[in-house]
Amino acid sequence: MITEENIRNISIIAHVDHGKSTLADRFLEIAGLVSPGEHVSQVLDSMDLERERGITIKSQPVSLEYQHLDTRYRVNIIDTPGHVDFSYEVSRALMACEGAILLVDGTQGVQAQTLAHSYEAIDLGLHIIPVINKIDSGNVDIDSVSEQIHDLIGSRKEEISLISAKTGDGVEELFQRIINEISPNKSQNKFLKALIFDSYFDSYKGVVASVRIFNGSIQANKEYMLANNNNPIYPTEVGIFDLGMKPISSLGPGEVGYIVTGSKDLTDFTVGETIVERSAKEKSIIEGFKSINPNVYSSIFPSDSDEYVKLRDALDKYSLNDSSFFFEPESSSAFGFGFRCGFLGLLHMEIVVERLEREYDLSLIVTPPTVEILLIRNSGEEILIKNPSEMSKYTDIKEINERIAEVVVISPKKYLGNILKLLTESRGEQKDLSFLSSERVKLVYSVPLLELVSGFYDTLKSISQGFATFDYKIVSFKKADLVKVDLLVNNQEVDSFSSIVAKENAEFFGRTRVEKLSKLIPRQQFDIPIQAAIGSRIIARETVKALRKDVTAKLYGGDISRKKKLLESQKKGKKKMKKIGNVNIPKEVFQNFLKQDL
Ligand code: GDP
Ligand code: MG
Repeated sequence: MITEENIRNISIIAHVDHGKSTLADRFLEIAGLVSPGEHVSQVLDSMDLERERGITIKSQPVSLEYQHLDTRYRVNIIDTPGHVDFSYEVSRALMACEGAILLVDGTQGVQAQTLAHSYEAIDLGLHIIPVINKIDSGNVDIDSVSEQIHDLIGSRKEEISLISAKTGDGVEELFQRIINEISPNKSQNKFLKALIFDSYFDSYKGVVASVRIFNGSIQANKEYMLANNNNPIYPTEVGIFDLGMKPISSLGPGEVGYIVTGSKDLTDFTVGETIVERSAKEKSIIEGFKSINPNVYSSIFPSDSDEYVKLRDALDKYSLNDSSFFFEPESSSAFGFGFRCGFLGLLHMEIVVERLEREYDLSLIVTPPTVEILLIRNSGEEILIKNPSEMSKYTDIKEINERIAEVVVISPKKYLGNILKLLTESRGEQKDLSFLSSERVKLVYSVPLLELVSGFYDTLKSISQGFATFDYKIVSFKKADLVKVDLLVNNQEVDSFSSIVAKENAEFFGRTRVEKLSKLIPRQQFDIPIQAAIGSRIIARETVKALRKDVTAKLYGGDISRKKKLLESQKKGKKKMKKIGNVNIPKEVFQNFLKQDL
């Protein structure tokens, strides 16, 4: 039994590719969990999709045991999700730790997310051990990266560990620093107080939650209570993570482990919940709990309307395992029946869509992402809308408000001009511009969330050749001049194509949308006007010209069998068409129209 003084709970803060998994491998070797050279690597990032993209969303902690002199220690490494969409989960994972390793690739330098996570860790009172990795590499620049780390958290150069996770150089010493510098848990009393920092749904075991115990202990087959929602829970198994999951009789103070609950409802076990004794009168709730709300909305339709039920079942199943995902039925004139869905951010959206398509064998039509808008009516009533089409329901809107995010961008200075331009075009307001080193610049801006979900990230990557990184957090609502731009095909509005945009950008936006759609729609027997409109005012127009009749006549004139074939394939083709007014449009047109960019 390892007591709380000998347990260390840490997190590794690192940007993608800076060497977190490689370092974790070395730690596993030191603890004797794997033999040198054996590659289990991805302990910290578990899902295929995440691995492919080099990001972490859900991951299992690892518990390492380590003998030093006469004492046996346990070091628990808790991973943090590697993407801005999951910043709340990051804060809860950090809260389960007393310390963090700030791992910076010595050939790359500090990145925006590392910066955001470090500040979060400092705010939560964690002890940070700064580390420069890849010192074996030829183009490592220890001086410049040390300077950046100094600017970031004030560490002196001699406080920074220099390691190579690849060769193992300096790793043992780093492990020693963890034992020596990071403080253990200090129980306040013997009454249970445990933090849920992750949870997932297992179809056999029910909800499994990752927990960190601060006070007291938790064991199987005993009733406890969730402090925020007051529901009782009854763990059927508790255990620790030693590469897999190992049941033990009880999790004591300072421990990190899991509980199997048998529950079917993941929403009960929201990240950030506190578990307390069943009989607890005064509940000591771990601060900062919040229910998770989507920030980005989009509509999802099956490409084949026959697959509506299949999609609904897939969403039901998927949502069991993702309590931050929201969906409700919706119907559209163009796409028929589908769902309005809410996501934490753009990456979350991309991942959900990809998983639905992959794991449930669906082909989906997904409308461009948009954000919630707060309408204030003349009466003062506030209405939060998550679908642009809802906006026309109200004729007495006094004020429109939108969400504002605080954005941090870090980039090599040679891209500064381009980035400033992008931030300005995104209706950003500068809060800070400073140099992290002679070559790296940090920008802090407030930018409407609406602009962030409209291609900001892709543009930032392309204008900086992938070198700029960014992070954001949503800070407030602010009054804004927004309008709804509708698209009309042959004078008929396509409801799912309406967008809310800044008034100043509306005409340009409308024009590009109209041009794009008109290039995609195949010519028919008559002219088809494609228009963008704000209310009844047309702001852009293109025409898809009618086919000249003689073209078909000439092509298929003589050959009867070919003509028959053509008619047959047209009949089949009809099934793949969506009808907007009297215009038949192949489904691919919509899919291509919605693809990428705005
Ligand atoms: P993660 O995304 O932070 O988990 O990064 P990985 O551990 O997957 O490492 C990213 C890349 O950097 C891989 O190709 C590693 O082999 C390489 N790498 C990691 N540590 C070192 C190191 O100390 N030196 C060198 N030269 N390469 C390293
Ligand atoms: Mg990794």
